[in-house]
Amino acid sequence: MSLYCTVFGHDFEVSKKVTYHVKEYKCSHCRNQLTTNGNGQLIKLTPKYKEINSILSRIHSKRQAKLRREELQTAYKMTS
Ligand SMILES: [Zn+2]
Repeated sequence: MSLYCTVFGHDFEVSKKVTYHVKEYKCSHCRNQLTTNGNGQLIKLTPKYKEINSILSRIHSKRQAKLRREELQTAYKMTS
């Protein structure tokens, strides 16, 4: 923990958006990392949660890609 954090507390900023609800946070002064768990609480970003988040992120981006495809198909149907 840096001296800044000891005195002023951590200064967390979003380091990664995993899904709409889950984000990873990083302190801009030290290497402390947090994430949102399934209950929306902030917890320490452990290797286990990093793994969970990377899986969540894959599922999320796949879902986004599928939604975009469906939108395109709907648009296509409307114009044809
Ligand atoms: Zn810190």
